[in-house]
Amino acid sequence: MSAKGKNRSPTSMEKCSKCNKAGNPADKKLSITCDCCKDLLCGDCHGLSPTEIRVFELKTVARVVTFLCADCRSTMTPLPSILKKLNDLTDEVQQLRLRQNMMATEAAVHELTERKYRAQNIIVYDIPESTSENIQEKKKHDSEEVAKLIRGVCNIDCSKAKMFRLGAPKSADAPPRPLKVILKSKSEALAVLRNKGKLSKPGSIKADLTPLQREYLKYLREELDKRISSGEKDVTIKYIQGQPKIVKNKILSNSQKNC
Ligand SMILES: [Zn+2]
Ligand SMILES: [Zn+2]
Repeated sequence: MSAKGKNRSPTSMEKCSKCNKAGNPADKKLSITCDCCKDLLCGDCHGLSPTEIRVFELKTVARVVTFLCADCRSTMTPLPSILKKLNDLTDEVQQLRLRQNMMATEAAVHELTERKYRAQNIIVYDIPESTSENIQEKKKHDSEEVAKLIRGVCNIDCSKAKMFRLGAPKSADAPPRPLKVILKSKSEALAVLRNKGKLSKPGSIKADLTPLQREYLKYLREELDKRISSGEKDVTIKYIQGQPKIVKNKILSNSQKNC
């Protein structure tokens, strides 16, 4: 028997879903069930002509013609345009995903390039700025001061290193602007960073990190604080193969470290 709506004599138990009248088995007008919502409609309410209702008397299992009540018909009418909109939206989502992937890849490539470029730099803080008006004298002053600082850290000749102050010039009483120092290679920068603990103020030399690296380091520091305040001991941030990680001190003794 087909699951589709069928016409039949109403039973006395059934009520029409539209007029709410109880069925009359003697009724010549057959009731019919909507193929969509399965509501029963009496002969007065389904609105089918005698010819039309004969279609539903066909004894075929695979009846193609379906009966829809007025409510279902009005719901179904906008369906094609809804489906079209759905298709358009699906296309749009796919395009957006593709674009998002492309942007993420571009951002990753840019980040890697930027990290590679910055790997040979160091940022030096707290070197007073020259009060000279002469640019060459200012540069000479910075170069000499940086060379003096680095000599106290490791044996690297940075007399020819390029360097410049970060940010726009400030008033004379403002704190000195940091200096970006471009060394010859990444290994020189690493040597300075690994040995900066020899300075009385190790914080005066830092790695030249990208904004993303700084953000990640900030996140790691917050995580470390949380773990320490929840009672965890012997944890710290160390650079392992160039990447900052939260590690247990005892693990450090067994692993390669190059901070
Ligand atoms: Zn009715
Ligand atoms: Zn219906």
